Amino acid sequence: MSMSSSDLSYLAPEYIRAIAPYQGGKPIAELAREMGLQEHDIVKLASNENPLGISPKADFAIQAAMQDIARYPDGNSFVLRAAVSQKFKVAASQIVFGNGSNDILELAARAFLTPGCEAIYSQHAFAVYALVTQATGATGVVVPAKNFGHDLPAMLAAINAKTRMIFVANPNNPTGTLLGKEALFAFLQQVPKQVLVVLDEAYDEYLSAANKSQAIDWLAEFNNLIISRTFSKAYGLAGLRVGFGLCDVCIADMMNRVRQPFNVNSIAQAAAVASLADEDFVERSYALNQAGMMQLTQGLNKLELAYIPSFANFISFKVEDAAVVNQKLLQNGVIVRPIANYEMPEYLRVSIGLFSENARFLEVLENILKSNQ
Ligand SMILES: *Cc1c(COP(=O)(O)O)cnc(C)c1O
Repeated sequence: MSMSSSDLSYLAPEYIRAIAPYQGGKPIAELAREMGLQEHDIVKLASNENPLGISPKADFAIQAAMQDIARYPDGNSFVLRAAVSQKFKVAASQIVFGNGSNDILELAARAFLTPGCEAIYSQHAFAVYALVTQATGATGVVVPAKNFGHDLPAMLAAINAKTRMIFVANPNNPTGTLLGKEALFAFLQQVPKQVLVVLDEAYDEYLSAANKSQAIDWLAEFNNLIISRTFSKAYGLAGLRVGFGLCDVCIADMMNRVRQPFNVNSIAQAAAVASLADEDFVERSYALNQAGMMQLTQGLNKLELAYIPSFANFISFKVEDAAVVNQKLLQNGVIVRPIANYEMPEYLRVSIGLFSENARFLEVLENILKSNQ
């Protein structure tokens, strides 16, 4: 570390300096600049975004909300709260809104974690759990994964007197693995009451009817359960940043105390309300994802590449020299996500796109693999 007098980073606590920054998907404009490509020639399948864009109803609501952006947003998200309450059959006081569901994860951590306590999460689980834990000075405890998924018995065994929180992603990103409902319920029954469970369901809309979460029904039984949901994935509102947490009223109260008063902007609130009302858009997104998942898995099979069966809108596949293949994909205008930082250096994660985008990805990948032989 530089000791020059201009570097004041040492003023941050050691636990902040130890944080490894989050690595997001490469923006299209950045790759265009780097490679001298045209933006419209680039396919981005790197951030699990909705290739259909957003609901036309949300589009309309956004235009209407633009009229009022000189005003502060409603800090209580009254209209959105009523819509979520009605749709998910929870009390208005059980809902916490966030600037994306990342904000929900952070609010949970900031309200409940302190230096000296521990938060448990799985190996290969969503990177934000470690980030929000470390930012509080609490200790993150990583439990080795089992077949790339959460090993719930091992996570239970990792609980001790210092454990305050457990993060569970279902489905998980970047592995796409899904925990069975019975296993998850049995897990919750065994977690001590003073340990909070943050159940991240960012991809629930992409699950089949049979697989969809029932965790909202479990809130009455488990007052230590915090469910997080997002408008960034199937609803397509990733750029607007809006998500929500569902939990016991007392937990919601604590999370709201550390929340910025205006953390969800007015356009996001309006778009989210309209999106919730457009079930047809979510159904179309689901159907496109099912078809795209089939297209990609068949393509990967044809290329004889192994992949982790996924329940979400992305798939992680195994390829020798993943970093090299990634670089060649970029040179050809295809952005996927390298996941070496998830202890998966031999894997790349590709999001399900439009039929034409998936086809382009498969074609470029095939050419790269052929030219390597
Ligand atoms: C994409 C994703 C989210 C959503 O993040 P937002 O802040 O709502 O955009 C949350 N959890 C997981 C596991 C994700 O992959």
